[in-house]
Amino acid sequence: MKISAISQTNLIIFILIILNTLMIFFRFQKALFSSNIIKMTNVLATTFNTKYNTAPFSLIKMEDYHPAFYHSISTAKKEIDEIISNSEEPNFKNTIEALDFAGETLNRVQSIFFNLNSAETSDELQKIAQEVSPLLTEFENDISFNEKLFHKVKSVYDKRNSLHLSTEQITLLEKKYKSFTRNGALLPDDKKEKLREVDKELAKLSLKFDENVLAETNKYTLHITEEHRLKGLPATAKEAAEELAKSKGLDGYLFTLDFPSYYPIVSYVEDRELRKEMSIAYGKKGFQKNEHDNQDVIKNIVRLRHYRAELLGYDSHAHYVLEERMAESPDKVFSFLNDLKEKAKPSAFKQFSQLTAFATETDGINELHKWDGPFYSEKLKKSLYNIDDELLRPYFQLESVLKGAFEVANKLYGLNFKQVFDIDTYHKDVRTYEVCDENGNFIAVFYADFFPRKGKKGGAWMTSYKNQYVLNGVEERPHISIVCNFTPPSETKPSLLTFGEVTTLFHEFGHSLHGMLSKVSYPSLNGTNVFWDFVELPSQMLENWCYEPETLALFAKHYLTGEIIPQEYVEKIKETSNFLEGLATFRQLSFGFLDMAYHSKPQEIEDIKAFENAVIENCSVYPEVKENCGSTSFAHIFAGGYSSGYYSYKWAEVLDADAFAYFKQNGIFNKEIANKFKDNVLSLGGSDHPMTLYKKFRGKEPTVDALLKRAGLL
Ligand SMILES: [Zn+2]
Repeated sequence: MKISAISQTNLIIFILIILNTLMIFFRFQKALFSSNIIKMTNVLATTFNTKYNTAPFSLIKMEDYHPAFYHSISTAKKEIDEIISNSEEPNFKNTIEALDFAGETLNRVQSIFFNLNSAETSDELQKIAQEVSPLLTEFENDISFNEKLFHKVKSVYDKRNSLHLSTEQITLLEKKYKSFTRNGALLPDDKKEKLREVDKELAKLSLKFDENVLAETNKYTLHITEEHRLKGLPATAKEAAEELAKSKGLDGYLFTLDFPSYYPIVSYVEDRELRKEMSIAYGKKGFQKNEHDNQDVIKNIVRLRHYRAELLGYDSHAHYVLEERMAESPDKVFSFLNDLKEKAKPSAFKQFSQLTAFATETDGINELHKWDGPFYSEKLKKSLYNIDDELLRPYFQLESVLKGAFEVANKLYGLNFKQVFDIDTYHKDVRTYEVCDENGNFIAVFYADFFPRKGKKGGAWMTSYKNQYVLNGVEERPHISIVCNFTPPSETKPSLLTFGEVTTLFHEFGHSLHGMLSKVSYPSLNGTNVFWDFVELPSQMLENWCYEPETLALFAKHYLTGEIIPQEYVEKIKETSNFLEGLATFRQLSFGFLDMAYHSKPQEIEDIKAFENAVIENCSVYPEVKENCGSTSFAHIFAGGYSSGYYSYKWAEVLDADAFAYFKQNGIFNKEIANKFKDNVLSLGGSDHPMTLYKKFRGKEPTVDALLKRAGLL
């Protein structure tokens, strides 16, 4: 998953919390003393009787989960109670450290359960997820709203300068303290009450926003009976549309606003009117002055977020969010976005002219509209490069690519991967590896689950089954997993990947290295538990190796002949990766600016559309479409977790390009640079501020130059 493999578990919990607000009945109050609790706590406990203490997947039964959650929550509560009732004066060890280790049993139960709910789900598992999520929310609230616990934490925080703490300990202390204050712990009771109301209201509004977008998406269909109108559409998209029509008892082809149905129409169909119709339908979700209109919902969300931030003592919602980001402040984000915009501008306009000239030459179109962009981009790309997935696949057999990724990790960080068959898995397709360092010391368990199947969510992600930490002087090593949906093997061919799948594998593997090489003391700071705009650095940086001839020579070999991928293809892969990058950058920047504009100052927005137009004017190239509004379906910021965070897509690219440039200058397998990255970034997780870690590795703050150069924008 490109967007964030931050924590699948957290994302799912977040979604479930929202769902939960709709649940009227608390359906799950039994089983606490049920007779199978003893059996079950053995199966889903902290310590398993297995190799490396790995999860005993094949022994877990559905009926184990309920009691396991009850038991581990009650254990965690006891651990918290012990902290509160401790008669000693609060200190770092008996309060902050104890708090971080409280609930480790629950952590493991949750990670096993929610990871399986993503990778191998079933109706039963989903039902359990709905039932346990209120319990988990309640437990979380019990901690973050616990005044006695906060007083203990605060008393340690207040004397922090006299405690002689290490950097990691200070980071942990601040993190714990903030987890209370950012939820209103310092407010008087009446304001606390107000904050709870605002939070409830905001949860409802976000849900409403999503429901409106979904309703508008589902409401629309496009029925085409004349086949000739679909000229240009790829066969797979056409077949899917035909099947959909059939399932509704219709002739011909049926299209919807779901991305896999909508996108091929605007990208490939020759019929310009058809593209226009679909594009406009897609762009007016939540903007039709009907019962699903999102304009007022946005106004309320923006107003309440600002009010909430002010209650907590912040200048704006963006200030509140960015306090826990590498970028730190709205000013810094704005200057980042502006800098990139100015530098990308010349090539964005040049590429737009190039695309327009191509459309004029091809079809006599002089003014390019939104519904022409993707279509002529695809055509131009084909005419310039004439390279496609099928041509490249034979060079990317999964086994070989995976071996290549392992070899890269070996050359950079001295890791050795050995496939083993005595670690339990949840499905026969899951492979398991023992990972050791160059001295043979055990580093991690690595799980890899590559092919799609019923019960697995789409996309790709990295996750963990066990944290890395040190407890009572004993170091626990992590269990890391990647889950993907790659092209499976067929009866006649092994799994042959597209180049996109190759970079995805390296991406997720990059996150895995962050998890596997972790070397911190406290569980909440381990591995990928870093600020959000820092988490994609290790993953995106590793993708860079896929474009290097030196790396490709390691694994990109024809699966039948063993021939190394031709240099000409390598060049084309590089060139296509930058194709029309200026326009793509402009588009991402416009979303980033819009997000920041809504959240960085108090707003009384009269007209959503006018507000949006004013903000994105400077990074728009297509003529305005009056029926459309981007904000009213911008779910990332109004219903997802991306408010004041959309910039982080580009931010992460800047970081990874800047970091990789350092390798490139010194050799992509330079041991010294690799060690600096390992020692200052990969192994330190969230134990220090990301800018500090980055500067220790790189010797300076990142600049946008390397990205501009890589993307051909200079
Ligand atoms: Zn990622």
